[in-house]
Amino acid sequence: RAKTAGKNRWVEFRPELLAEDLVRLQVIEDLQQALPRDFPVHYQPIVSLADGSLVGLEALVRWDRRPAGGARGAPAALVMPDVFVAHAEGSGTVVGIGDAVLRTVARDAAVLQEAAGHPLDLMVNVSPVQLRQPGFPARVASAVRAVGAGRLHLEVTESVLIDEESAEVLHELAATGARLSIDDFGTGFSSLGYLRQRPFSSFKVDRTFVRDIAADRRARALVEGMVKMGLALELDVVAEGVEDVEQAGILRAAGCPLAQGHLYCPPLSVAQLHGYLRGRRVPVLQD
Ligand code: C2E
Ligand code: MG
Ligand code: MG
Ligand code: MG
Repeated sequence: RAKTAGKNRWVEFRPELLAEDLVRLQVIEDLQQALPRDFPVHYQPIVSLADGSLVGLEALVRWDRRPAGGARGAPAALVMPDVFVAHAEGSGTVVGIGDAVLRTVARDAAVLQEAAGHPLDLMVNVSPVQLRQPGFPARVASAVRAVGAGRLHLEVTESVLIDEESAEVLHELAATGARLSIDDFGTGFSSLGYLRQRPFSSFKVDRTFVRDIAADRRARALVEGMVKMGLALELDVVAEGVEDVEQAGILRAAGCPLAQGHLYCPPLSVAQLHGYLRGRRVPVLQD
């Protein structure tokens, strides 16, 4: 314990906080070390609810973290974004990671579209920290050239909607030919008026709403309302986290055009995706 100079006050000693800080600092240091390399990107199919056809892929970053002090050649564990994206945002490394993801998507686009046999939309998650980077629209413009005009979608969360400083950037991004999508719609501060004022072309109904639609009448009403509003605003609507045919049937009946979830396919590496595209089966939907 430390006594502060002269006064009879004690510095609070919180060992659990210290341990967390050490983990956080180690994660940030390891992320910085990893940065010159590209991060693995997995892709999750987005399908049409009407006929089950493949419409696009969401790029989801992973981290092949080398075990600290581990033996050479030891297999790298694949770390999920929920574990490191918040640290990357807090430390600014998310800018480098985001750029790497954008480059990887631009590089993979042709191979993926070729394997699918038709053009695909590619969705990329963008952190608010990335949006504020001066050169970001130029990097997006170059990715748009590789993916195809109107085919690259940038997913941002609702916090970006209400931020006045981001408004200008959003319009610059839209001008590059990228499309903008609101991710996890309904979980943040959905100031609905901004939906009209910002150049968004779609939103993704958060998984937490979709999860309960079969069991809970009110959850179902909420999702039906969101879909109706989105379509009335001429926005595309993607339902996230669709896990069973019952949910898919309800969404389809509600007129939701697009869905993503384990019912169709989990996120896959490019190599795994080739297998998926070859052996694709359309799940049977209940009416
Ligand atoms: P998100 O953008 O909402 O992505 C959807 C998440 O839901 C993914 O988790 C996906 O694997 C998961 N998911 C998809 N279908 C289902 C389902 O049927 N059931 C369940 N339980 N989960 C499902 P993931 O890959 O762990 O990504 C988590 C979050 O990390 C993403 O949420 C996104 O916010 C963030 N993220 C991922 N990649 C990037 C990136 O490149 N940059 C930034 N800034 N954030 C990223
Ligand atoms: Mg997303
Ligand atoms: Mg989402
Ligand atoms: Mg989410």
